[in-house]
Amino acid sequence: MMERIYQYIDNNSQRFISELFTFLKQPSISSQRIGVEECAGLLAGMMKEAGIRCEILPMGGRNNPPMVYGEISSPGAKKTVLIYGHFDVQPPEPLEAWDSPPFEPVIRDGRIYARGSADNKGQLFAHIKAVEAIMKTTKDLPVNLKFLCDPEEEIGSPSLDDFIRANSHRFSADVAYNSDGAMDSSGRPILSFGNRGNCHVEINHQEANRDLHSGQFGGPVPNPNWHMIDFLSTLRDSNGRVAIEGFYDDIVPPTAAEKDVMAKIPFDEEKTRRFLGLKQFAGPKDMGYWEKIMFQPTLEICGYTSGYGGEGTKTVLPCKTNVKISMRLVKNQTSSDILQKFKQHMEKHGFGDLEVTFRYGYNPSKTPIDHPMSKAVVAGVKKAFQSDPILYPVTGGSNPSSIITDFLGIPIIKVPYGSHDECNHAPNENLVIDLFIKGIKCSATVFYELSKI
Ligand SMILES: [Zn+2]
Repeated sequence: MMERIYQYIDNNSQRFISELFTFLKQPSISSQRIGVEECAGLLAGMMKEAGIRCEILPMGGRNNPPMVYGEISSPGAKKTVLIYGHFDVQPPEPLEAWDSPPFEPVIRDGRIYARGSADNKGQLFAHIKAVEAIMKTTKDLPVNLKFLCDPEEEIGSPSLDDFIRANSHRFSADVAYNSDGAMDSSGRPILSFGNRGNCHVEINHQEANRDLHSGQFGGPVPNPNWHMIDFLSTLRDSNGRVAIEGFYDDIVPPTAAEKDVMAKIPFDEEKTRRFLGLKQFAGPKDMGYWEKIMFQPTLEICGYTSGYGGEGTKTVLPCKTNVKISMRLVKNQTSSDILQKFKQHMEKHGFGDLEVTFRYGYNPSKTPIDHPMSKAVVAGVKKAFQSDPILYPVTGGSNPSSIITDFLGIPIIKVPYGSHDECNHAPNENLVIDLFIKGIKCSATVFYELSKI
């Protein structure tokens, strides 16, 4: 039967690509609030055409964004799979860096170039076309499916948590599945069982009420940067570890099974170091590269803005300074607890006068690597991609999965269909057509394999 479904997918691939083009032509830039509503309507229409019962659900909150929710059930199915994906995209700027306009999809060298092609419209669309292929070939799905299509993933899904908490009955399922991000550079598929969380804060400090001449006023007038730098230097100890009290208290070290899987990730540490132009890697000397990414939290200064950074000189005494800090979190840290510890640290070290603003947070998520779902997804991925997948206990980035794993109690596995050079969030974003088609086959196969658990 799988052969017939694969045949249908191959026979209809040209049409699938042209339908994806329609989806990509509709901008849906959540951060600029451009086209998200229109895109929700378009997506809902395409899902209905594939036989999925669909609703647009206003999520409330400040922006009242439109979630696209879909359901398709099958009389004999015993399992329900929740698909998570998003249809909003990152801003396309800088436009001049694109070889073709971001919302006019084109094919070059076997790739579809457009904003959202890989992240995440193309990968989300693969699941929808898998439903069509199964329905047209067999008239019946092996599992019940629910679709949660997020309109705000690229801005940190600010409405999702509250919405799911208030409507949890809709989202009940046995397992969840998501395709986003990139495969390994070797072309091997990846299964990811978790994500780091994030606690993003901004710190502002001001001294005088305006920028001043550094000669005329320098001396008696304080420069806000010294106070900020004094504070920042309290955040790290002499070993480069985060010095916030209790920061590492809740972290859980990798299990034996996770260590085993990490050791099998194909990776050349030396080559990567040279590729990045680094003299050495940061972090504890006795800890491996992957453990630092998957099982260790970070505190990064993402931006520092003050005074004049342009060409030439400007003898200014700035009045303001702004710092953006992102803390990537691991199990069992939570964004709210880390924020509180961060604030306590400020007070304790005498920097209570700095103004701290919480921007957004995600909690870390993790599904056990030996969950029964894992075997089913591995089998499906292997069949569709004809290649052994690499298992990642956690990926370093963040997404809203913790609301699915921790609140809804549903295990989730992510299988990316994008190539390692998909240029997500960057100019010339692209989706390899061969991977798009294999992705459709993969989703279909995974649905069958999950029905057997
Ligand atoms: Zn993205």
